[in-house]
Amino acid sequence: NTFDDLSFHEIIQENIKLTNYLKPTPVQKNAMPIISARRDLMACAQTGSGKTAAFLVPILNLIFQSPQEQNFSFINKRKKLLPVALVLAPTRELASQIYDEARKFSYRSRVRPCVVYGGSDIKAQMRDLDQGCHILVATPGRLIDLHDRGKVGLENIKYLVLDEADRMLDMGFEPQIRDIVEKRDMPRTGQRQTMMFSATFPKEIQHLARDFLRNYIFLAV
Ligand code: AMP
Repeated sequence: NTFDDLSFHEIIQENIKLTNYLKPTPVQKNAMPIISARRDLMACAQTGSGKTAAFLVPILNLIFQSPQEQNFSFINKRKKLLPVALVLAPTRELASQIYDEARKFSYRSRVRPCVVYGGSDIKAQMRDLDQGCHILVATPGRLIDLHDRGKVGLENIKYLVLDEADRMLDMGFEPQIRDIVEKRDMPRTGQRQTMMFSATFPKEIQHLARDFLRNYIFLAV
């Protein structure tokens, strides 16, 4: 019933202590072992449930366990960025919040998160990406723009998260999400680990889960 029981890397344990989170929330207690076991996940969880840390912490821990994922030459000669984790979120506000959490948990480690979203200077975001990035938090449209420009490649993605999937569909992002996940250089289902979070589980989300996840565990908290 504590974060210590989940036996994360010591840097993560220290960073959890710095956040003052005393014990895992229900979604964290349930989702963290599933993600750590490298299973695909469909989780129904509300905003405020602690779902952000529920996926960020085990993903970071898996990256810490893999020298290869930490050592990725994430920038090639053309300064194209090849992140290992991609988190898609519906809005700039949510993307920024996820990024802030990612910064807290990756503090004093070599793992570097970045955030990109629309309505903001893309050149500044590209300069930030030039510093390198393991965990990219993005809104769908801006990610497609950066991919079209050859700035971001998806071929190294090992961890894919769709956060607030129902909200992304409500906002009309399904074509962009399918474009990113199915039509570009993203590794196929089964070649990556995919986690979907959604407050509700209507038909449209069930279809996305069927298409994007493999042997997934369904979690409702
Ligand atoms: P989220 O649902 O991920 O948006 O998180 C909602 C709020 O709860 C955020 O402000 C988090 O910083 C906070 N939070 C997440 N996990 C915990 C925890 N285990 N203990 C206390 N607060 C938490």
